[in-house]
Amino acid sequence: MALKGTDIVKRLPDAGKKNCRECGFPTCFAFAMKLAGGGATTDKCPYLSAEVQAELEDALAPPIKLATIGTGENALRIGNEEVVYRHEKTFVHQPGIALLISDKEAEAKVDEKIKKMKELQFPWVGLTLKADLLALQFESGDKAKFEALVKKVCDNTDFGIVLISEDVDALLSARSICGDRKPLLYPVTKDNIDKVISGIKDSPTPVAVKASGVEDLVPLTVKLKDAGIEEVVLDPGSKNMQEAIRDQTLIRRAALKQNFRPLGYPTIGFPCFTAKDEIREILFAAMFVIKYPGIIVLSDMDESSLLPLLVHRLNIYTDPRIPMSVEEKLYEVLEPNEESPVLVTSNWALTYFIVSGEVEGSKVPSWLLVKEAEGLGVLTAWAAGKFSGDSIGPLVKKSGIENKVKHRRLIIPGKVARIRGELEEALPDWEIIVGPREAGEIPAYLPALVQKWKN
Ligand code: SF4
Repeated sequence: MALKGTDIVKRLPDAGKKNCRECGFPTCFAFAMKLAGGGATTDKCPYLSAEVQAELEDALAPPIKLATIGTGENALRIGNEEVVYRHEKTFVHQPGIALLISDKEAEAKVDEKIKKMKELQFPWVGLTLKADLLALQFESGDKAKFEALVKKVCDNTDFGIVLISEDVDALLSARSICGDRKPLLYPVTKDNIDKVISGIKDSPTPVAVKASGVEDLVPLTVKLKDAGIEEVVLDPGSKNMQEAIRDQTLIRRAALKQNFRPLGYPTIGFPCFTAKDEIREILFAAMFVIKYPGIIVLSDMDESSLLPLLVHRLNIYTDPRIPMSVEEKLYEVLEPNEESPVLVTSNWALTYFIVSGEVEGSKVPSWLLVKEAEGLGVLTAWAAGKFSGDSIGPLVKKSGIENKVKHRRLIIPGKVARIRGELEEALPDWEIIVGPREAGEIPAYLPALVQKWKN
């Protein structure tokens, strides 16, 4: 349970009655409320004792801590989740999909998997969907072979890395090959935890603890926290899907509902080790996207298994409160010129990609003016007053389209034909043309229209 402003104010100087304003807020109470909402930090009050500051920071920390695997553009952030069910608010950090490579696999197979990771990337409504991590497993018993695999991956890719080895020496030497790439080390167990802590304490990297059951994770995470290792991932050691759902749910609820800090970390799941066949593995992974691992490790992937999984992940992790949208601006479709048609639409991502795709399909280079409408489709945006003649008129003026075309003809979506009059008033120099009601009609409509203009 998150700390409330009314609880915080009692811990502030003079029990919240000092009201000196040095934090930038008019009263201690206002500062406490802001602190509770995450809009301020404890260091703004110079009169807090170190003890109270530490106590408040600990109490205000997110119930599921953040862990970052990798660095730079490909860094994967997991954790910081706030709800058990996605419909309560939103899930925050989508799980990383990892591809397992064992050092026992043939060189050709290793190369093929690295190639797949690089090539299996899918453009999708303005995003690129792809897997995130390579999980490198020491299985051969030959440390040099494992190190060669790690070096190959480090030299040839910039994906985040999970290092898997029961042998702590192999784990730590592989970690040093990774340099500053912040790999996740797995598994940390009750038997090797001391050795891992002493191996990484000078330069911490995320670690994943493994135990045989949820309860057994607790002493391990407590020990890591006491050693100052903050980025932790949990593996409760579930042996099948039924156990996995139970364990993942227990961890999530303990962290969020009981604010039980020792389980307040993201988790990892291994369909690659627990599923009996490829189909079950991908079904297992799809279940994990919903409940709840931050990393899902697969034994292999191809377009037909990965793309549906990535789209499923996108659907679950898209914030339902914020429609997907594109930027308000003038877009070029193909290579338009001063004679090209000008169309206008709203900025819901799906609308934009469907309309621009159909214009492309018409093979008529065109200008597509996209109006900001809070990510709503054309008809909904019109009903909400966000796609009106009064607002599109000024957009046409400021977009610069009048310097790019010689004509003055604007094509509006057929579904909002009724804004034609408003637009004619707002843009007296322009001819307003009511286009097709459905985007699918554009490939036939545009060439015919352009031909008519030429005649
Ligand atoms: S600086 Fe501290 S004591 Fe002063 S008003 Fe802010 S919270 Fe209260």
